[in-house]
Amino acid sequence: MNTQDILQSIAAVQVSILRHEPDIEALDRAIGDGDHFINVRRGCEVMAELSPSLQGLTPADALNRIGMKLLSTIGGASGPLISSFFLSMAATLKGAAEPDRRQFAAAFVAGVDAIKSRGKADLGEKTMLDTLIPVARLLVRLNEEGASLADLCVAAKQEATQGMLATRDMVATKGRAHFLGERAIGHIDPGSKSCEVAIHAVCDLMTH
Ligand code: ADP
Ligand code: MG
Ligand code: MG
Repeated sequence: MNTQDILQSIAAVQVSILRHEPDIEALDRAIGDGDHFINVRRGCEVMAELSPSLQGLTPADALNRIGMKLLSTIGGASGPLISSFFLSMAATLKGAAEPDRRQFAAAFVAGVDAIKSRGKADLGEKTMLDTLIPVARLLVRLNEEGASLADLCVAAKQEATQGMLATRDMVATKGRAHFLGERAIGHIDPGSKSCEVAIHAVCDLMTH
């Protein structure tokens, strides 16, 4: 995974997020304040604007610049959480010019851990972490088992979708939806959906 792969991933995520506007919008309107799509779209735009200036940087430096920029530009609960994901990935990849799959998986795990500690949340709280944590665990396990990139991507997409769908039956204990109590049951968490969309986009890019 080099910087070019990261920049292509950003572009692919942006296309996919825009394509899923209706679903993501509707979810945050149902159990949030309706701005999650706008926040995520803004994040994608910021990354796309930044992209040309990231060419030639190491993956760590590129991810660090992205994280810093997102921190100052996207609002909501999700902004600082996603920023901490990128900043922590950057810190983990420091010194690796072209990180291999194992290093990338370790960085992804560190990014997800950063979201957990910043949001003081864990699995089962009806947040983006219900998509991200299972995928992080899967990446580590499949890399240890020596899975092919194609198998890994197929499995990661399935895991992301399963994690996202599982939020439907959960009561939220973090984020705005927790004010709704049991009324949030039956609705998928918007952050878990946008993360699922992003993971699918990156996996499709990696295997096309
Ligand atoms: P806001 O809720 O401030 O309007 P967004 O709508 O952009 O921000 O993002 C909402 C999403 O953020 C939720 O759907 C959930 O996935 C995620 N989220 C909220 N609080 C937390 C938290 N403490 N930890 C992890 N994710 C969270
Ligand atoms: Mg919102
Ligand atoms: Mg908001």
